[in-house]
Amino acid sequence: MLTDNLEKVLENEPKFRRKQAMQAVFLDLAKNWEENSTLPKDLREKLNQECSLEIAGEVESSKGGDSQKALVRISSSEAVEAVLLRHSDGRNTVCVSSQVGCPMGCVFCASGKIKNKRNLTSGEIVAQVLFFERRIRESENGKVTNVVYMGIGEPFLNYGNVMLAARLINNKDGLNIGARHISISTCGIIPEIEKFALEPEQFNLAVSLHAPNQEIRESLMPIAKKYPLEDLILATRKYAQKTSRQVMFEYVLIDGVNDTQECAEELSRLMKHHLFVLNLIRYNSTGSFRPSPLEKIKKFREILEKNGVRVTQRHSFGGGISGACGQLAGEKGRA
Ligand code: SF4
Repeated sequence: MLTDNLEKVLENEPKFRRKQAMQAVFLDLAKNWEENSTLPKDLREKLNQECSLEIAGEVESSKGGDSQKALVRISSSEAVEAVLLRHSDGRNTVCVSSQVGCPMGCVFCASGKIKNKRNLTSGEIVAQVLFFERRIRESENGKVTNVVYMGIGEPFLNYGNVMLAARLINNKDGLNIGARHISISTCGIIPEIEKFALEPEQFNLAVSLHAPNQEIRESLMPIAKKYPLEDLILATRKYAQKTSRQVMFEYVLIDGVNDTQECAEELSRLMKHHLFVLNLIRYNSTGSFRPSPLEKIKKFREILEKNGVRVTQRHSFGGGISGACGQLAGEKGRA
């Protein structure tokens, strides 16, 4: 799909063809290589066969119009979910999936229940961003400004393709979105966090935490058995120290599970680092769990702030789309 076979198709072509091809995909937003008149006809035909620019998808808008969920088709039998979040300050964030289904099995998450599991190619990841880039350009001459890997899948299980796609999104010949506007989220795969700390780009790291202690984390997220909470916090501290970059911890508040005052006190102790930021998200019900009541969230936040934790609270988008790992897959996302 898209750029996946581009290098192979262009391997015997002069170097400037690559720039022309990238321009057709990312700047001109061509939907068919025939739209490009600078490339020779036989090359356009080959590109249409090997690097199709067709991106089909169905869109569902939230009531307030501040979010759009798309089911982007990646093959005749598979589709993945991507979401556009429209912020009041003009930012347009696209939340992408990195896998078809997710094997991590977090108990509160709909994505873990999707059966058909495989890694997405870099082209399939980029296609989700381009899908919205085309729509925004056509309707209002706007642009995608931010990309977050918080859709379906664990990005660090697909490390190579995720990084390749992030670089295409960041590249000045690609979508030219600044590295600091691209965030990659993990449920806590420590070796990849260590690897990510060595990458030269300034991409952001987000960690899906969702629990203040090992016991609760293990009951919600099976990955905690392999990579215990204590080790995860240590790894993110080392990451912050090495990169001097902030780490965003995502915390979905589930009624009666991880939202008590004791949880807030415990969490405050974990978050004691000047580069740690905690993002509180009201749970978007996907089954047996309920979202925390607003009063409880308010109290939870007050305790954290009293203890000096930097807290943000994500705006809840119209359709109940919170844009957090495990919060996006609806019925339609089940490929
Ligand atoms: S919460 Fe994230 S890591 Fe866990 S199963 Fe869902 S998509 Fe995978």
